[in-house]
Amino acid sequence: MQNVEQLKELHRKRFGAKPLVFAAPGRVNLIGEHTDYAEGFVMPAAIDFSTLAAITPRSDGRIVFWAENFAEERSFELSALPSSRKGDWSDYPLGVIQMLAAEGYAIPALSLSLWGDVPLGSGLSSSASVEVATATAVTSLMRVAIAGPALARLCQRAENEFVGANCGIMDQFVSANGAADHALLLDCRDLSYRLAPIPSNVALVIANTMVKHSIAGGEYGTRRAEVELACKILARHRPEIRFLRDATVEDLERWSHEIPEAARKRARHIITENTRTLEAAAALERHDLGQLGRLMHEAHRSYSQDFEASCSEADRMVELAEGLPGLIGARLTGGGFGGCTINLVEQEVAQEFRTRLASLYQAETGIRPEIYICHASDGARSLA
Ligand code: ADP
Ligand code: MG
Repeated sequence: MQNVEQLKELHRKRFGAKPLVFAAPGRVNLIGEHTDYAEGFVMPAAIDFSTLAAITPRSDGRIVFWAENFAEERSFELSALPSSRKGDWSDYPLGVIQMLAAEGYAIPALSLSLWGDVPLGSGLSSSASVEVATATAVTSLMRVAIAGPALARLCQRAENEFVGANCGIMDQFVSANGAADHALLLDCRDLSYRLAPIPSNVALVIANTMVKHSIAGGEYGTRRAEVELACKILARHRPEIRFLRDATVEDLERWSHEIPEAARKRARHIITENTRTLEAAAALERHDLGQLGRLMHEAHRSYSQDFEASCSEADRMVELAEGLPGLIGARLTGGGFGGCTINLVEQEVAQEFRTRLASLYQAETGIRPEIYICHASDGARSLA
């Protein structure tokens, strides 16, 4: 983790006052892919990469951000905050402040320094960690308490409405509410959640395939349309099916002849993934890592074959991991078509696992992967 004392010192030198410091983590999704917009279940964990936010009040009516990662300052007149995005990093903290203002809070003049070690743009949600760190710091300065789930919703709106990125609630939710040594099972319908223990001898090894296929953007829309079509057809027979969350595999089989093949396969992934995610939480709760690994294997197969959102590199990364000692379970995590795999690995062999996976993957694909060894960590917190 970055050095808190160092951040305090650079903030003090730049802004002339000793700050309070807050942290909010990135995340990795263990299971539950593309289930969020079907009002289903996801099970991410917060990780031990985070963004720090140092904050002090000002007396000149301005909002000033410093991003240590970019070595850049942005300064705004509080009475004339931009209402649209600039297209750079300042959109994230500014979006959060705009959402707080939209909720009716009086925003004070402030200086905010950000410094993160979540890899940017690698699918570990550095953006959510910036938003949640900002929201935690600013509300603390304002002496306003917003509960974790509501804070997450506000940060998601900042990303959807101000930054202009169409993300679900998962990233901000687990960054705000995650807990050390636990995964978080989230019901995307009502935002109820529970924590499921991850044994302390299990490492979360995140392997970046370093590929992101350009079809990803367009295919996301196609997948959503197919999922919605399947849902609409099922709802003709069972009107209580509002989202695929409400449907069963039996529903799908019974009316399968009415649903085009692609939509049927996408729906089968969503419906079975919801069940697997609930089973994965139960497996963690009874310390059944063998079952968790099988569910992750199944989840990858479903994501690859039914949802068709994997790619040859990600499939290979999972297969190679499954041949290595110490692996509990592996699957492609995130939106698909490349990005990272999540590997649950016995801690004592995690370093060796990483070295071997990297060299096998590089030998086969010619691509040098980035592999991070993480642990489930606390959500947003004050570091005082
Ligand atoms: P991801 O969330 O997967 O890491 P995104 O593209 O959603 O990728 O968000 C990355 C963007 O978030 C960066 O380009 C930058 O604008 C902003 N960001 C992330 N970390 C920081 C940071 N430490 N300081 C300032 N901005 C950051
Ligand atoms: Mg992001």
